[in-house]
Amino acid sequence: MASPYTDPTRFVSTRYHRAWLASGCISVLISLAKAVTGASRSSPRTWLQLIASGLVGYVMADLATGIYHWAIDNYGCSKTPIFGPQIESFLVHHRIPWAIATRPVAYNLHVLAQGVTFMVLPITLLYNDPVLLGFMGVFGGCIIFCQQFHAWAHGAKPKLPQLVVALQNAGIIVPRLQHAAHHRPPYNSNYCIVSGMWNRFLDKSKFFVALEIILFYMLGVQPRSWTEPNSESTQGTEFQDY
Ligand SMILES: [Zn+2]
Ligand SMILES: [Zn+2]
Repeated sequence: MASPYTDPTRFVSTRYHRAWLASGCISVLISLAKAVTGASRSSPRTWLQLIASGLVGYVMADLATGIYHWAIDNYGCSKTPIFGPQIESFLVHHRIPWAIATRPVAYNLHVLAQGVTFMVLPITLLYNDPVLLGFMGVFGGCIIFCQQFHAWAHGAKPKLPQLVVALQNAGIIVPRLQHAAHHRPPYNSNYCIVSGMWNRFLDKSKFFVALEIILFYMLGVQPRSWTEPNSESTQGTEFQDY
């Protein structure tokens, strides 16, 4: 049956989407440019610290996407202030996962780019520390593009650029089969979508289960994954490594 969520004419990149994507990318680029300029005026040790801070930014961005994805998959609803549209779109994504691969880039990334603009730009303008700016630049860049990595995780291998497949196979961006494991009801594992490097640890340690139990006893709120039925309406959740 036709669904409004599978109608491509509803999902187009507008000037508004492109403007937010540009503003997020510019914020990240200014942060990285200031970091490199600052390091070039400092000692060689600062370069090492800058590279290390960028790596930490990449690692922490993966963890941040996992925590954010877990939170919106499990709590709130479409009417929740600020996060409602994101919650709805992630829940729809569980029902029709393949559709994300058809969304235009700016449409897909603009919300995260908006968040990164508000987070990174003020720090970039207020501070000159290359280590802080290196962290913020890489962290912000990974946050903006995690939805693109996520979309590629739903792409068919023959249709993806070879470089993307190579990065997925190397685990530098989230691999397709690893993300496929998230798309099995009750959708309670493999939440991280930058590289997925945290997924094994978070799932094996029951990190999110522990958080859910703490929140349940503190606030009396159950996560959606505790009551998620085995959805028969789930479409296209069978992933193949073509
Ligand atoms: Zn999810
Ligand atoms: Zn997905």
